[in-house]
Formats: sequence, structure tokens, C-alpha cells
Amino acid sequence: MRRPASLIGGLALLLYPCLSLAQDDAEYAKRIREYTTDPRFLSDLVDHLPSSESVPSPLDHFGEIIGAPNILHSTTEIYGYLRALADASARVEYRAVGRTEEGREMVQVIIADEATIAELERYRGYLNRLADPRALPKEEATQIIAAAKPVYYITAGLHSPETGPPEMVMELAYRLAVEESPLVQAVRENVITIIVPVAEPDGRDRMVDVYRYRKAHDDVGPPLLYWGKYVAHDNNRDGFGLALALTRNILRDYLHWKPTVMHDLHESGYYLYVSTGTGPYNEQLDALTIDEWHNLAHEEVTELTKRGMPGVWTHAFYTGWAANYLMWIANTRNSIGRFYETLGNGGADTKERKLRASVTSREWYRPNPPLEKALWSLRNNTNYMQSGVLVALKYVADNRADFVENFYLRGLRALERGRSEAPYAWVIPRQGRRPLATEELAALLLEQGIEVHVAEEDLSWSMTSDPASSGANAAAAGAAAKQAVARQTAPRGSYVVRLDQPYRTLVRVLLDVQSFPEDARPPYDDTGWTLPYLRQVAAHRVDDPAVLSAKMRRVSAPLGVAGRLEGRRRGFYLVDNTTDDNFAVLRFRLSDVTMLAAEASFDADGRRYNAGSFIIPAEGNPGDLS
Ligand SMILES: [Zn+2]
Repeated sequence: MRRPASLIGGLALLLYPCLSLAQDDAEYAKRIREYTTDPRFLSDLVDHLPSSESVPSPLDHFGEIIGAPNILHSTTEIYGYLRALADASARVEYRAVGRTEEGREMVQVIIADEATIAELERYRGYLNRLADPRALPKEEATQIIAAAKPVYYITAGLHSPETGPPEMVMELAYRLAVEESPLVQAVRENVITIIVPVAEPDGRDRMVDVYRYRKAHDDVGPPLLYWGKYVAHDNNRDGFGLALALTRNILRDYLHWKPTVMHDLHESGYYLYVSTGTGPYNEQLDALTIDEWHNLAHEEVTELTKRGMPGVWTHAFYTGWAANYLMWIANTRNSIGRFYETLGNGGADTKERKLRASVTSREWYRPNPPLEKALWSLRNNTNYMQSGVLVALKYVADNRADFVENFYLRGLRALERGRSEAPYAWVIPRQGRRPLATEELAALLLEQGIEVHVAEEDLSWSMTSDPASSGANAAAAGAAAKQAVARQTAPRGSYVVRLDQPYRTLVRVLLDVQSFPEDARPPYDDTGWTLPYLRQVAAHRVDDPAVLSAKMRRVSAPLGVAGRLEGRRRGFYLVDNTTDDNFAVLRFRLSDVTMLAAEASFDADGRRYNAGSFIIPAEGNPGDLS
């Protein structure tokens, strides 16, 4: 439910007065108004910027304000400004987050009041302790919740053609550091704001290059084919596979901080869409996660609508089912993940934008639609994004203990459900057909922050139901067979993924079978991804709680499999085709070795070899083989 603080939102214009008018930078405010194409596209939250004797504003640093026409900044320029900000302000810390495929740095700024910045490790420690309620007595949890500060983690620039967010967050960072309005003071004292200004630095620099080239050549120039080195729009679909450096960097940083809220800034909406989605929502989420999405979204929609800004709405647009987006790193780990879609022009030009009737119609979820036609500028976009984020930050500041407590409660509930509700574990035998894929799956689960154990005794459990088992086709014939098999076993040494762990939601998201409702509207994105199926690895869902009592030990790395050569000085060597990916790697690594591929399965030395197995003759091949 919404809190009393937001129920008096009707007075917000009075509650959020800017007390620092005397110190405002008149030139900055003048340009904000000049670059905003319609007064309705501006709010009192961002129509000014304080000046500071010691801290450089974007205008001081760049000679122009944020959101000015025709100006985009590269990562070097953005990082240069944020470093200057951190150098000048004790309220801002600048840190590296990791590197991209092309070697560019990902960075973040951390903003809070001086006392909080001086004790960041203490506050980080609080959130990390709350993340695992097993090691935390209830009384201590209560004390920590009272003392902790939520981390609000903003990512910008994930989608490179959506150019506005990396610009906006520079002004936001400055404002959070220097403004003395009650709103910003409340945020600075109660929330630790972390901003990753460019989540896809390779793509940002390419985009800025292309934009500048086209500006200089009558708008003739190449489009962006890829944004990052290997990927375009789907850099926001990497949350399961972790193929990209940017995803791994953000995930590692999530696991370091345990942010309370993650907020990803995008530009495919009109004028500000705040995520909640239409549903069906992902079936594994704690209901409290969804409640917090709605609380935050309603606060932003109400506050900006009240200020007369057209086109601020929620629901619709996306489903909320697929869990592989960057900000779902938070949703699947007991935090809150959310996003904005604002209106970008794909650069920094000011253009007339005519919108389709389907996005300007008045609907139940959009009682305040955008205009059919408007001159649109990067500054308008900056105003919407920044106003929304300030409202969200204030809401989290006002309800800081609730957000922190709910994060803790979701972890606690995950543990309780893991002990009292099926499924209780997944068991992944290591003697399957694809031994390397099995190890890679275990490695991925560990990298995701999931706890993985290894059974130290043979396992046996009753099979009440086992829909995810063995990649078996659970069709009619299988169902009858299952009735007959009362117990399932797996040998000692099998991996066990217990569900009585804080990231139970994530385990189920990755390993369970998705049941997207058949009668639902077509989804925004993927509906199914069960990782054991995708990787053809046997994984048994165990609905028998006895499995939790088996002897097992926790591992921090996959056990691995070692290949072995049986016998030497043979006429032929056989390599069984397990269909593991590395089977193909072997062929390319040994490109000088003559190999034959079996066209059918066969038996040799009492073993079965699959079709496609390699037959390597000793004769004519180099080295040890002969
Ligand atoms: Zn986007």
C-alpha cells in the first residue's frame, strides 16, 4: 500500500519548494527554458540548477547545459565530468565497475551525504547481511533495518541509440550533490544513489561517432550495426547466459552492493512510461516485489501528472514475464528492478514528433496521454526522466525502512518456502551424456550467485511429480511410466541446488519449466527458457523434502571433468561424440590431425559410440599417436 507521505501528494508543490533560489544559476535556468519546447514539458523539480563555488556544474565543465540541441558526449567526456564532480564534492565517489569487450571502462558514481560516503562499507555491509537471513538473528535484523540505507542503482545508456540517459544522469549527479532543497536533502541523507552513466560504453562511443559524422555530412552516414562488439538491442536479454562483459560487470556489482532498487533508463516510450507491465508477471516472483513496482510507479505517475506533464503512464507496454533483462538481476534476487521509457530522437536534434493514434489514445492505463504532435527536444526528454527519478528517489527516501525491510523479508520468505514447499531441490547428475555442458551449467549457476552443493552420498527420493526430469518428454507414455517409478536416484557426486537459499526465486526462474498462461495475450518477449532443456543437461526437480537432509557440501567452483586417453600405441583412437560444444573445439584445435567422423553409432571395446564420433587413425598423423 502507498504510504501516508505520498497521500499528501496534492501538496507536493508546497512540500518540495526550492529553498535555494538565491543560489540558482540564472544562466543554467534560462537555457533550460530555452531548450524546453513547451512549458508543459518542464517541472519545478528540474527547472533550475543551483550554482556552487567549489563544484563544477555541467555548464561550468562543458560550456553548455545538459540537453542542449545537437550535443552528445562520449564516454571519455562523461567520465571526465563525473571525475571532476567527485574530485570537487565529498558527497560523490567515482569508481570503476569493469571493462568491456573493447577495453572501455564502465564506471559509477556513488552519491550521498558526506557522513554516509565516509561509511559506505558499513552501509554496504548492512545490505549484505540482510541479503542472507540465515546468518542474522531477528533482533539484529530489526536493528540493521533501522540503521540501513537503501541503495538506488541507476543504469543509463544500455541501448546506444537511446542517447538521452547518459546525458541526464550527469545533471542528476550534480543536483544530488549540491542542491539544498528539502527533496534533495532527504534523498542525500536517506538513500545511497549509484549511477552507472553508460552501461554499454562501446556502443555509446560508436553512437556518438556516428551522430557527429552525420551532423558533419548532411545526415549521410552509416547506421549502427552492432552497439557493443557482439550485440545490439539484445544486450538487454543477457541476464541468464551472462555472455557479455557488461552483464557480468553489473551482476558482480549487484552481488557486491545488493542494491535495493535497480532502475534502467530507456527511450522507447511516449513521453514517460514507467514499468509495471501488463502481466502475466513472472510466476516465481514474490508478490511483494510486484507491489513495490506499483507503489513506485504510481508515485511517479501521480507526481508528474499533477505537475501538468502530459504522457506519464504505467501498465501496458511490456509483460513482466521474461526475467533476462539487466534490471531483472534485481527482481530475481529479492530487490526491485524497474525501467523507464522516455521519448528520444535518436540523437540530440530537436524535431517535430507525430505519434501514432495507438500511443496517444486515452486508455484506462493512460488517462494522461502524450500529445499527437509536438516539437521534441533532448531537454524535454531530460526533464521527464530526471523529474521521475527525483520523485522515485524521494519516495524511497521517505520509505527507506520499508524498502530495506521488504528486501530482507523476500529473502526470509524464500528460505521458509524452500523448507516447506516443493520443489526442494534440483539434482543434476554429473554422469550425463553431456558432461562438459553439465559443468558449465554448474559454473553458470555459481556465477549467478546461486549456492550449489555436491552430494556426499547416493541420493534417493520419492517421485511425486518430476516434470523437469531428464529432458524426458513428459507426454502421455511418460506419465504412465512415472507412476511405476516410485523413486528416483542419483549417485554420490551429483550437484544439488537446494531451494532453501535466499535466491530461491532465481533458481526456479532458471531451472523450472515456465507455464505461460495459454489464454494470455501475446507476450512482449520470451516465454520459456528452462536452462537444463536448453543445455540438454539432465536435472531432476525434487519434490521430496528428505533430499535436504542428505549429506552434501557446498562448492565454490564446478568440479570439472578431466578427459583421459585409454591406452597408447593403438591403430585408431576414438573420441565419443557427447555433443558437448568442446567436441567441435577439438576438431579446430587439432586442425593438422586427420580425423574421420562415424556416420552411425557403433560398439568398440564394449562401449557404445554415438554417430559423429571421431575416429583418429595413428597412421599418417603426427606425434604420440604413431
Ligand atoms: Zn531501450
